[in-house]
Amino acid sequence: MPMKENALKLKNLLATPKQIVITTHRGPDGDAMGSSLGMLHLLKQFGHNVHVITPNSYADFLHWMPGNEDVIVYEDNIEKAQNITANADLIFLMDFSHISRIADFSNTISDAKATKVLIDHHQDPDMSIADIIFCDTEACSTAQLVYEVIDAMDLINHLNKAIAECLYVGIMTDTGSFKYSSTTAKTHNIIAELIAAGAENAKIHDLIYDNSSANRMKLLGYCLNEKLLLFPENNSAVISLTAEELERFEFKKGDTEGIVNYALAIKGIVFAVFIAEKDGMVKLSLRSKGNFKVNEIANKYFSGGGHMNASGGISEVSVNDTIKLVEKIINDNKTELNNQNN
Ligand code: 5GP
Ligand code: MN
Repeated sequence: MPMKENALKLKNLLATPKQIVITTHRGPDGDAMGSSLGMLHLLKQFGHNVHVITPNSYADFLHWMPGNEDVIVYEDNIEKAQNITANADLIFLMDFSHISRIADFSNTISDAKATKVLIDHHQDPDMSIADIIFCDTEACSTAQLVYEVIDAMDLINHLNKAIAECLYVGIMTDTGSFKYSSTTAKTHNIIAELIAAGAENAKIHDLIYDNSSANRMKLLGYCLNEKLLLFPENNSAVISLTAEELERFEFKKGDTEGIVNYALAIKGIVFAVFIAEKDGMVKLSLRSKGNFKVNEIANKYFSGGGHMNASGGISEVSVNDTIKLVEKIINDNKTELNNQNN
């Protein structure tokens, strides 16, 4: 990836005030919002008119982030989002690599005449969706890439507290608080710079991780106590929730985030699946340790994708039938699942 060359191209485009849209994938997570809002706070310093537009809403624990108050949710403001996008000179596509991931907003983005800039760390990016592409599948997060792009544009002296806090959230959430193998010395160096620029690390951890509703914690307890299916002979675990169960715990967006990791935290488990019936769909979160490639499973069976150890997708059948399908997948992959080091 010719990072420097692309960064200079982008810097040239940013030399005069522009109408800019920043968008990210459906179901925005910490990295999606952190990289989008981090970029917003950089661009605002140069007199651009910038809007962050998300395809749909996102978890409450991300709402404290600077710039959140101005985010436009496409689903709730379709006409406004369409007008702003149609009139944009420049569109940033953050933390996704296929246009299908922005769902109903995709036609508006595809039809827009603006120059498009992709910043992402997912596998197999669709190069046709943007004009300037910053893709690094080795990067732990899109937020880290945003830092690198700012650095390559020689704009690191414009790092401020708002940018630093947003990028910190993106890196922290996509690395599981700096524990995944994608976390490198470079990641820690960047984190050091973000803290030096004003990111209050302890406060951010508290706001993201220790800010749950009582219902969320009870739902987690219910999942672990009553809904955990263990397949110890194949090093796998499955947790599932129906819409009725979610309703019982007064589910709010974000409440199930991270539950899959508890299944993966059990000694010996290298493949964990979380299934939940939400918005009339059956969604899956797949996680693994070692070389078991959950993105291939997500792609093959669940019209999804993601990273080798963290992927997601959608099932076309009921929760119960999805559990059966997952059991079959576990069985079909038993040799590989038993060969993982853990
Ligand atoms: P999560 O399980 O947290 O929803 O998603 C984990 C990762 O899987 C995301 O960071 C994203 O890379 C990927 N992912 C989740 N859902 C989908 C999907 O529907 N399609 C694709 N292509 N990737 C997904
Ligand atoms: Mn990401």
